[in-house]
Amino acid sequence: MSTATDPDPRAELAELARAVRAHVEWLVASGAAGTPRAERPAAPVEHAAPRVEATAAPVAAPAPPVPRPAPPVVAPAPPVATAKPTPSAPAPLPPVPSLLQEPIANGAEASASKHVALEPAERLRRLDVLAETVRACTRCALHAGRTQTVFARGTGASRLCFVGEGPGADEDAQGFPFVGKAGQLLDRMIEAMGFSRDEVYVCNIVKCRPPNNRKPEPEEMAACMPYLREQLELVAPEVIVALGATALQGLFGTTEGITRLRGRWKLYGGRVPVMPTFHPAFLLRNPPAKREVWEDLQAVLRQMGRQPPKR
Ligand code: SF4
Repeated sequence: MSTATDPDPRAELAELARAVRAHVEWLVASGAAGTPRAERPAAPVEHAAPRVEATAAPVAAPAPPVPRPAPPVVAPAPPVATAKPTPSAPAPLPPVPSLLQEPIANGAEASASKHVALEPAERLRRLDVLAETVRACTRCALHAGRTQTVFARGTGASRLCFVGEGPGADEDAQGFPFVGKAGQLLDRMIEAMGFSRDEVYVCNIVKCRPPNNRKPEPEEMAACMPYLREQLELVAPEVIVALGATALQGLFGTTEGITRLRGRWKLYGGRVPVMPTFHPAFLLRNPPAKREVWEDLQAVLRQMGRQPPKR
């Protein structure tokens, strides 16, 4: 139930209608049309990123190396043939013929030494050079036990050469061949032939003393033979006397005994007569054999055009 203080709903509704009418009339009078638009909401404001003070750029860890692609394998170009001949390596020198394999020539015509045109002074100079070479030689095991090398003695002025086996203790100590007791006997033989000691040339198959005075091994002889070969070329003897079986083996490669071969001429290098005879050391143990040696030396003298002295 309404009271006297409650507003009259009809009066209120009438009042509201008048207010609405008055507002519409004002809108028409002011030129406005329609109902006012609702305001569009403002565009959202983009917040600026918080300012970051400039700092040193962080050092980035080095990236792992990217493997480079392998270069393409280029096949070598085929050699271009040109008209110009390619220089070739010098042809190897022909091997020095080993006298150990040299065939024994019998009765062959003597041929000239390869050094035949050399002056005597030049031959001596070359012999000195060869002796120096031998002095430093280590081509075989004998070098280890030597006191010194033993190259030769004498001048060879008589054109007569004696070839022995190798140095003994006395020769190793003094540096000259045939200076011991056997050498003294050889000197008497040389004197008996009518030559002075230094007129003849004396050398050995090997230039270093074998231990315990043993016979040189075949490989030791083979290693040393080029020296003797050059010696004989430079000395160019008219006749060679081979003293003992080892000297014969070195010069000709024969293993026949000296007893069988002594007194029978051979030819060294197809041109130099060689008389095999006993070694003086053998004569010291077998003095009766001196007679046979003297026969051999007389034959040498005849070969050289000399009259053997009467004894
Ligand atoms: S014996 Fe002859 S090859 Fe052997 S080391 Fe002596 S010099 Fe050289």
